Amino acid sequence: MPDLEITIIPCLKDNYAYLIRSGALCAVIDPAEAAPVEAALKVTGARLTHILNTHHHWDHSGGNRELKAASGAEVIGPEADRTRIPAIDTGVDEEHGWRFGDLKVQVLEVPAHTRGAVAYVIGGAVFTGDTLFVMGCGRLFEGSAAMMLASLTKIAALPDATAVYCGHEYTLANARFALSLEPGNAALAARLREVEALRAAGKFTVPSTIALEKATNPFLRTDSAEIRRSIGMTTADDVAVFAEIRRRKDSF
Ligand code: ZN
Ligand code: FE
Repeated sequence: MPDLEITIIPCLKDNYAYLIRSGALCAVIDPAEAAPVEAALKVTGARLTHILNTHHHWDHSGGNRELKAASGAEVIGPEADRTRIPAIDTGVDEEHGWRFGDLKVQVLEVPAHTRGAVAYVIGGAVFTGDTLFVMGCGRLFEGSAAMMLASLTKIAALPDATAVYCGHEYTLANARFALSLEPGNAALAARLREVEALRAAGKFTVPSTIALEKATNPFLRTDSAEIRRSIGMTTADDVAVFAEIRRRKDSF
């Protein structure tokens, strides 16, 4: 794996932007706002060369214009949502992918939170925006339950060791909801204790891994007998189970 340095940048109330550096290149993923990104650039001494967006929402792209004006960085986003990405230069899609210098970047089209949402797979890490959260998933603003389940399944098919960097620090609430559906899941109970300790210490709960998510994220566990019993849907299909879990999370 080519070496990639990743810096986590908290933005706004609970957003995460990420600085990724490879050689002389430096990209920011999902800059909600410019100031914390500028501060991180100053600390690392890097010059911003690229701005990547997972989707068009302002809390993931609100810093695009200011950062581009200050650095001349190229703005990359989903081609399918070109008209809604501020100051976009280059649209990407799943078929063609993208390159970050020498690094091949896999672009996964993961519609449902927004219809143009993408995830970026770069050097053993996946940046999932508001599609896959640690122990949760994004709301269905522009897609169906079937669409979100297909998008999550695509991300979950990445290698187990892949590091998962998501768009928000929602982990504690997600873990409590997950445990309410699956109290007998030992991996989940252990993970809740772990994230409680991390948050109490003011630490980030990212990155997770694909293996951890498959073991603890209820939205990737529609086949769990315990979850199905909890919601009274032992024989329903996966999409119906997923839709019910999503519906319950909306009001948890
Ligand atoms: Zn969003
Ligand atoms: Fe968001």
